[in-house]
Amino acid sequence: MMKRIVLLIISLIVSVNLFPQAQNRVAKDVLKRHQPKYSLFYDNHTMPSCPDVGANFDAEAFTDRIKRCGVDQLTFHARCNLGMAYYDTKTGIRHPSLKYDLFGRLADACKRKEIALIAYFNGGISSAEGVQHREWTTLYFDGRENREPRFTPYVRTMCYNTPYRDHLIAMIEEVAHNYPVSGFFIDCLAGYPCVCPICVKEMKERGIDFNNKGEVIKFSEFSALRLAKDIAKAAKAINPGFQLYFNGIPFEQQADFGTWLECEDLPTAGWGYEYLPVLSHYMRTLGDKPVMNMNGRFYDWGDFGGLRPEAAIKSELLYGLANGMRPNIGGHFHPRGDLENAVLDRIEKIYKELQTMEPWFDNAKNLTEIAIVYPKSDRNIRNQAGSDGQLIAAVRMLSELKQQFDVVTEFSDWSRYKVLVIPDDITFTEEITRRVKEHIAAGKAVISSGSSGLNAEKTKFALEKEWGIKFIKECDYDPAYFTVGKNYNQGLPDMPLSLYSSGTDVEPLPGTSVEAWLIKPYYNRGWDGEYAFYYNPPDKVTDKPALTINGKVAHFSHRIFSGYYDQAAVELRTVFSNVLNKFLADPVIRYEGLPSFSRVFVSEQPGRKMVHLLSYVPELRGSKTQIIEEPVELHNVKISLRNDGNALRKVYLAPERKSLPFKINDGYINVTIPVSNGYSLVVFE
Ligand SMILES: [Zn+2]
Repeated sequence: MMKRIVLLIISLIVSVNLFPQAQNRVAKDVLKRHQPKYSLFYDNHTMPSCPDVGANFDAEAFTDRIKRCGVDQLTFHARCNLGMAYYDTKTGIRHPSLKYDLFGRLADACKRKEIALIAYFNGGISSAEGVQHREWTTLYFDGRENREPRFTPYVRTMCYNTPYRDHLIAMIEEVAHNYPVSGFFIDCLAGYPCVCPICVKEMKERGIDFNNKGEVIKFSEFSALRLAKDIAKAAKAINPGFQLYFNGIPFEQQADFGTWLECEDLPTAGWGYEYLPVLSHYMRTLGDKPVMNMNGRFYDWGDFGGLRPEAAIKSELLYGLANGMRPNIGGHFHPRGDLENAVLDRIEKIYKELQTMEPWFDNAKNLTEIAIVYPKSDRNIRNQAGSDGQLIAAVRMLSELKQQFDVVTEFSDWSRYKVLVIPDDITFTEEITRRVKEHIAAGKAVISSGSSGLNAEKTKFALEKEWGIKFIKECDYDPAYFTVGKNYNQGLPDMPLSLYSSGTDVEPLPGTSVEAWLIKPYYNRGWDGEYAFYYNPPDKVTDKPALTINGKVAHFSHRIFSGYYDQAAVELRTVFSNVLNKFLADPVIRYEGLPSFSRVFVSEQPGRKMVHLLSYVPELRGSKTQIIEEPVELHNVKISLRNDGNALRKVYLAPERKSLPFKINDGYINVTIPVSNGYSLVVFE
């Protein structure tokens, strides 16, 4: 023990005093880390039987072409998910038909042309290596090596605890040593449930029930995280300035060792158009790392012949840029190395246009004053289905209302927000209770709904005094209707309205005002042995609250966000908006003549604010594909930006710097945008 302490003291002295040059070099390397601006990401997964890999590849022509697109960062495969390496490897399997060091030529050309090259390795899938070493692959929970059904790149996945882990790290070290790469993108580090002898042995040692699939998945996720940390350690030992990202590891879990965050999102390949809104408002709360917004030129993975419309690719990238995310266009690389001019022409056109506005995108931060509190795991937030519909709906409502907001977890600071929106099912831990109490004590507002605010046991409100209501039980009205009193019924039809959701029975405490009431249905939905009770009209208004207000805490008894997710009933958004307007009478932005589908984002740089106006609508075509084919042109849009006492010299449209006349009234700067065709960037300087 003593010896260890002495060694520790010596090593501290050595690292602090004796090698200042080494310290400086580290600091400089970190400072030099590339900050991605306009990136490309190539998927290059090549079947081992492909006969002519790299035969037509001209590294000079390719890098010249992408340089002309203004690309400063390229992610390219060192080793793909088929287990094929594209560089001269002593450790892995070079593609059998590749006759030269393709990755090496590319790396050399990128270095000369100042394009940061990120080496791609698939961490979770490596088919050919799995065929060679069956003992390196996942033994799935059902005891099979191959996944069913088999037609998927994930048919065979790799176990993170076999000698595969050392093999993968060795390949990464090989590339880190031998090529001038800027960093690594390690893909597919998901929790594949493995019950191979090595995993089972460790699970036994750790007291994990290896017969429980959920526990096995958790252990696999832990193993993936442990591998990611070891990869980061090995890579940083070679160059502390490497950029690193681990796809599949939750964002917050790689906070300490990853250097950027990537939002992988191809709307036409299952993500749809609800994902980017949620992630863009969330990822920027995870620290100061670069956040990349990766879409794709194709419709789906494996789709070599797809080229999505310019408006689709561009609008998604603009959405990201307006929210502080850097564009990254994904594509497939033709394994022969054919230069795909039609694709690159489209990328060039889009990137050239975006780059004209770069001065206003560069390091801009979004100006937000509302937070959707969603203290769940990153995996919940990124899961797009079912239980997370409430989050999607809350993001949607606030976006349609042009409010400026973030999505926050316990990971980030909540103290700067004026309003917390706590949707539907957020029960309170001690930590959340403490934070919300602090927020309310500072005189700031809360809007919650459903069982949000209840303690973990769901027996009472964690902040009963602040909420001003007593929890009775889950409400048994099905369907539930409601009626809103005069204080919050602006814009609502005068009739019993559907809530489209389940909810709670609550009782107001003295001093709490009831602003909306539940209406009981004649009978509940169901089957009574003779009739299906499908037609269930509203009966009488009850004295049960549907909306209560106590000071600056508003609570909806029912899960209005889940209701909005299921039915998109505009009335639910209207009543929510009426409450929000009461609490946030002077929002950052006011507007006239803007349709609900348009989006407005406010960002700032030192000395100026930018308003980004987007007007694109995805349309569901056929059975499953949402498409944006062209922008929707808007006319005479009136926007008012809260001035916040800044001295204002000019308002103009960027990038053309065309002045816009403005008037200042009641603390707001009012301008009219005569025509907006998909996107307008208004600068207040
Ligand atoms: Zn295993």
